[in-house]
Amino acid sequence: MHDKTSKGQPALLLEGVHKRFGDNHVLRGVSLQVQPGEVIAILGSSGSGKSTLLRCLNHLESVEQGRIVIDGQTLVENDGSGKARYPDERQVRRICASTGMVFQHFNLFPHMTVLQNLIEAPMTVKGLKRELIVPQAEELLRKVGLLDKRDAYPNRLSGGQKQRVAIARALAMQPALMLFDEPTSALDPELTGEVLRTMRQLAAEHMTMLVVTHEMAFAREVAHRVLFMDQGVIAEDRPAQDFFRDPRHPRACAFLQHML
Ligand code: ADP
Ligand code: MG
Repeated sequence: MHDKTSKGQPALLLEGVHKRFGDNHVLRGVSLQVQPGEVIAILGSSGSGKSTLLRCLNHLESVEQGRIVIDGQTLVENDGSGKARYPDERQVRRICASTGMVFQHFNLFPHMTVLQNLIEAPMTVKGLKRELIVPQAEELLRKVGLLDKRDAYPNRLSGGQKQRVAIARALAMQPALMLFDEPTSALDPELTGEVLRTMRQLAAEHMTMLVVTHEMAFAREVAHRVLFMDQGVIAEDRPAQDFFRDPRHPRACAFLQHML
């Protein structure tokens, strides 16, 4: 597990992560290393634990067992008795600030303008000054093609525009790692393209990305690696090209046949 090859510090490290909801053992020993700049597509049927995995990385859920290291910072590890132990809340919040999460349903603050959505967390979580963060936020809005919506409220935006704002908002925290949970699943097909284009652009800039998606073309063309999840374990972890050419796990074969 402690692989000290020539590779540098991983952007993300998971070892033996377990998560239960009551009797439902949802993550059953997930181990994973992600290098900086890698784009990982997470595939798998509904209920296989994909969202839970991402939510544990952002501490929207806590794990019972295992180790999670994000950008060199230990979010959780087992104590002497083999139970997961987190540092204090302040520390947890600080570590989680190095991940940016983009949800299926955007989750923008409805009572704030687009710009306010972007600068809120950098100001309150990181304590950055407004004068400092506004130009950065504007630059991010320009990058996602929405600078002209700077002062609009989310309810004036299309779903695709909302999602691009959500991506810009996550980027405003300068995360080491971006997590996407089915970012286009709530969008009409004609709006999906603009969001995927923004994500492709991020990938081209070597952002480290974990993307839960049902967009097979995106996974095939943009992801370096595919994780196929099945019943709470990573059933396949292979280069995307190999996975799509020759899926090995029977459930992965069935899944692909269904998707294509
Ligand atoms: P996926 O994203 O792959 O569809 P999830 O991670 O959402 O799967 O769910 C995995 C399992 O965990 C499912 O059985 C689901 O019902 C259960 N689950 C997810 N979130 C919760 C929760 N907050 N409380 C109880 N059970 C949950
Ligand atoms: Mg899900």
